[in-house]
Parts: sequence; structure tokens; C-alpha cells
Amino acid sequence: MESRRPEAVGPLPVVLTIAGSDPSAGAGLQADLLTLASLGVHGCTAVTALTVQDSVNVRGYTPVDPQDTVAQARAVLEDMSVQVIKIGMLGSAAMVAAVSALLADHSQIPVVLDPVLAAGGGMALAGDGLREALVTRLLPRVTVMTPNGPEALALSGTGDLPAAGVWLNRHGAEWALISGGHGEEPELENLLFRGEVLRRTFRQARLPHSYHGSGCTLAAALAAGLAHGLTMEEAVARALDFTHACLVHAYPLGKGQYFPDRFFWARRHREGPDGRR
Ligand code: PLP
Repeated sequence: MESRRPEAVGPLPVVLTIAGSDPSAGAGLQADLLTLASLGVHGCTAVTALTVQDSVNVRGYTPVDPQDTVAQARAVLEDMSVQVIKIGMLGSAAMVAAVSALLADHSQIPVVLDPVLAAGGGMALAGDGLREALVTRLLPRVTVMTPNGPEALALSGTGDLPAAGVWLNRHGAEWALISGGHGEEPELENLLFRGEVLRRTFRQARLPHSYHGSGCTLAAALAAGLAHGLTMEEAVARALDFTHACLVHAYPLGKGQYFPDRFFWARRHREGPDGRR
């Protein structure tokens, strides 16, 4: 069958993700690439760490030399017009320092920071001094950060999420979206802060499973929306909706967490009669 090219739409927007590799392809840069591709964005990668993990937990990781990570990023940035930089697992204070220096040379590019401190199974993905380095060196350069509740509390040292959001703004993050997936309530609340004020609360129904790479999906989807030119509030709303849909269609592959389906919209053949599997 002859394949026809679709109408010319111009080049895709480009997002550079600076993140760790996950061999199970549920989280990390693999999650980012799937999410970005699903949302019509070309994803480029600068690898920060090689994790060894499955759907249950992380068994270990080897950090990449920060100069090699930055060299990967510079190769992309010198070649292409990058609309948004998305940052995931950095792992060490030395990596934060190297990435901060890189960002200083590209001050016009918006930055989405998903502050990865631990894997879904609980193992730490953070070396000594990572928290302090994130707060003092990276936060002032962040357009929007996307911690989950425990990460927001750990980073800020505050006792509740409203105080954590204010604290993150005060320490430099222009916008802070604290996702609510880690609580227990049947309806979860995602809190969006700007200027030390809670701007909006996005409510969603809690889903039954634990998911591998949900935070990565949310942050990458947010980066995609910004790369397409959406306003922050619109990009947040759409990223939350997209992530929720990926989780509704998530599937078990291994012995642990479910895997979000970032291409749920392309899988009509797997649907059951009720539109779900
Ligand atoms: N990045 C990497 C490389 C990881 O291994 C993980 C978790 O295992 C994460 C990010 C965070 O995953 P989540 O989106 O589930 O918080």
C-alpha cells in the first residue's frame, strides 16, 4: 500500500531531557521519550545515570561523569533549537553543579524540574548533598518544578504541602506543582503555586495501583505542553489529564508496579467492550 505523507506541519518542537536510564522503560528517560513522542515532541536525551531496576525496585545505579552528561546536552543545544529543558534524576551534588553551569549558558530556555530523590519502590536515587544542591543551585533557575508530596516536604523541610509550595517559590522555583498521588484520599489534589500563592487546585480520582514512572510522565507531558506554546496553567491541566489517562490504561508487565501506557490513544485493538482492558 502506498503511504502518503501527511500535510506538512513543520518541524516538531524539541525538548531536551536530562535524566537517568531505566532498563524497564517505565521511568526515567525512556518514560520521557515515550511521553514526548506521544505528545508530538522530539525528545533528545542527556544521560545522568545508568540505573539497574525492574518494576519492583532499583537494585543500584552508576552515575555518568557530569562532564559527559553536559557534553551530551551541549551537542544537542548547539545543533538544535530546544524549546524546553526537562530535568529528572541528577543523583549527586556534582551533577547539579555541572547542569546548573550548563543552564547558565542557556538562560532563555524554560526548565521543568522533576526533583527525583527516590525510586517508586523506595530506594534512594540521591547522593549526599543532593537536596542542598538542588535548593541552592537549581531552584533559582527553575520555571516549574513537579515534586510529589513526599519530595516537596523533604526538599522544603516544612510540615505540610501548602507551606512547602510557598517555600519552593520563595527559594526560586517560579511555579511549583505538587502532585497528590502519594496520599490516601479517594480524591487527590494537585497544588499549583506561583509567587508564594496557591493559584489552583486540580482534583483527580485516585486510581487503584502503584505506577512506575508516573512523575516522569507528568513532568515530560508538562514540558511538551510548554514546548507547544501553551500557557503554564493550560500546560499543567493538560499534563495532569494526559498522565491520568496513561495511568487508567496502565498494565502490569513485571512483579511490581504497573506501567503507564503513554500511547493509550493508539491502541483501539486492545480495548474491551467498555473501552478499557
Ligand atoms: N528517574 C529514574 C531514572 C528512575 O529510576 C525513577 C524511579 O525509579 C524516577 C526517575 C522516578 O520515577 P517516578 O516517576 O515513578 O517518580
